[in-house]
Amino acid sequence: MAGRVVFIGAGPGAADLITLRGAARLAEAEVVLFDALTDPALRSHAPQARWIDVGKRGFGCATGQAAIDALLVRLARRHRVVVRLKGGDPSVFGRLEEELAALAAAGIPSEVVPGVTAALAAAAQTQRPLTRRGRGRSVSLATAMTADAGLAAGAAHADTEVFYMAGRQLGVLARRLLAAGWAAGTAVQVVSRAGCADAVASEHRLDTLAAASVLHAGRPAVVTVGVGATAVAPGVGAPVVANVDGAPVVARARRPAAEADASPAGAAPLAA
Ligand code: SAH
Repeated sequence: MAGRVVFIGAGPGAADLITLRGAARLAEAEVVLFDALTDPALRSHAPQARWIDVGKRGFGCATGQAAIDALLVRLARRHRVVVRLKGGDPSVFGRLEEELAALAAAGIPSEVVPGVTAALAAAAQTQRPLTRRGRGRSVSLATAMTADAGLAAGAAHADTEVFYMAGRQLGVLARRLLAAGWAAGTAVQVVSRAGCADAVASEHRLDTLAAASVLHAGRPAVVTVGVGATAVAPGVGAPVVANVDGAPVVARARRPAAEADASPAGAAPLAA
């Protein structure tokens, strides 16, 4: 009896951001293989299932990719429905390609249920739309971890670029973007744990981006650069973000001294 594997996007980390279809498929699962960034509260959708943690974090892998591929195939041969639960959307930096290929090679049917990817959760968190009429016509999703961060094309870029996996190297990312032709004053926002109750959002200029490292240290974060990082209007859509204690922690980075004016310095609340 061969079963099938359902890849489900769990959303950015808050259990209620999974889709209705995702929750329904989860309820059918006999086994669930889940990643590090999925909310433990999702277990309530599949209390009947055996839950296996194959979480990968940062640069290292808790479970190697080849081992996950093999485990999926083995489990699908013994169970009717195997769910592969991935943070955000499975198709975005989720190693979906390898896992789909392994299943196809073994003749095991699969299905993919989309989820809310971190870039979209960040845009919602700060109420800063990724596309804007007339001037924000393209969006790219890029990883900051590869050698060239997708910047090989020099000045060519999308109106809004969202970088995943950038948390540990914001300074490096900023330097590469400057070298690629972005202006020093380009708007940048960093949102960590977007969509979650303890989300933190901060806004910066490209030349002060490195300062965001401390604020978001140790938290999954996306960096949005360009049109999509700008506020819709002054005071409108200002990030309303609370830390675990409920205190606002939305911050604006200090401007370079030469340009300093009456605007808040250091980590002043945006909405104040
Ligand atoms: N498939 C996932 C991305 C996995 S790669 C998705 O679609 O969102 C892991 C990276 O995603 C992290 O390094 C971080 O850049 C980003 N990320 C995941 N969850 C996040 C969240 N809640 N807030 C901000 N960034 C997040």
